[in-house]
Amino acid sequence: MGLDFIFDELSSLKEHALMREYRTVESAQGPYIQIKGKSYLSFCSNNYLGLADHPRIKQAAIAAINQYGWGTGASRLVAGNMTLHEELEKKIAEFKGTEATLLFPTGYMANVGALCAIVGREDIVIGDKLNHASIIDGCRQSGATFRVYPHNNVSQLESLLQKSSTYRRRMVVTDSVFSMDGDTAPLPEIVEITQKYDAILMIDDAHATGVFGQHGKGMIEHYGLEGKVDIIMGSLSKAIGSIGGFIAGNKCLIDFLKNKARSFVYTTALPPAACAASLAGLILIQEDTTPIDKLWDNIRYLRSQLSKFISNISGESPIVPIIIGSAEDALRISKRLYEKGILIPAIRPPTVPLGTSRLRISLMATHSKEDINRLIDTMKDIGFLTHGNTILPKAGYAQTDVG
Ligand code: PMP
Repeated sequence: MGLDFIFDELSSLKEHALMREYRTVESAQGPYIQIKGKSYLSFCSNNYLGLADHPRIKQAAIAAINQYGWGTGASRLVAGNMTLHEELEKKIAEFKGTEATLLFPTGYMANVGALCAIVGREDIVIGDKLNHASIIDGCRQSGATFRVYPHNNVSQLESLLQKSSTYRRRMVVTDSVFSMDGDTAPLPEIVEITQKYDAILMIDDAHATGVFGQHGKGMIEHYGLEGKVDIIMGSLSKAIGSIGGFIAGNKCLIDFLKNKARSFVYTTALPPAACAASLAGLILIQEDTTPIDKLWDNIRYLRSQLSKFISNISGESPIVPIIIGSAEDALRISKRLYEKGILIPAIRPPTVPLGTSRLRISLMATHSKEDINRLIDTMKDIGFLTHGNTILPKAGYAQTDVG
């Protein structure tokens, strides 16, 4: 006995093509990355604007290391709070158009920390079925009653709100861009309904920040919903090219989270150089939106090329999912592409519902048209994309648990 169950569980994962393993990247993150000495064209990264390896970001991090060293040695509330944390929080608040912001070491921790601080046993939290795992974990860990509505189904959300008048607090939480589907939440309707029922609204803007909105400020800017969302969560690890998560909102909310969010209070502060890199990323986006325009050119181009072969590709973002169905098939196609020098992950349960394993393509501003053409041509070469033999992604997903 003892740990024998681990061997059995791993064997079962292998048998069902659900074993997860990583590759080792030997280069910087960009459209091309090196693995085992070979160059691969990568469509795997959330580094949407290509900032992860930008010279100004590297310079900012190096300058911060020279001035402040690397580590912080304590949590923010003990002695880890440094100038760059506060500068970055001010910049994020300005960018997101809120009174204040609180930094967390990761976006995952921001979601869990905020949810657990705001709702508890006497409350109800209602979320989209396809919300990110960090939201689901926060909802579960909060101890609140947790209900989900079918993906983007606003009338089901409303009926759950109607039935929840006896709870002390009601909270609605949704991704703005769904990370495995690339589609977006109907935020204007969700805002209207949460206001009607006097519920708290939290959105996870991780994949919209730096991508959506005229100035890349995210989904609130995109829809003109400034001041209408109570809690905005974001990540600095995607379009901003850095690391860290944040909650943006009014000053009262931020003061509350400073005191109550356990994943803020009980963890060491981010290294100042990470904050300097994020600051540089945000400044770059504010100075010049050309990379955002380039990203959207790439999104339109890839989606139009793929739609010649595949109908109903979900979404309208740099995340382009191609639903395959079985985990085995998705893994097989991903491996074939890898043999041809192209990196696209096979996303399988529990990240996505059973029967909806997929290839998840993510685009960057730094991909060229030639890169995208190479992807399409390679998919054709391996027999994955053929006219007259189109792959039809499933329209509705099985409503199983999203891990
Ligand atoms: N929310 C969403 C929608 C995400 O996709 C992710 C990361 N993939 C997170 C939150 C967590 O952010 P981070 O990577 O900064 O922890």
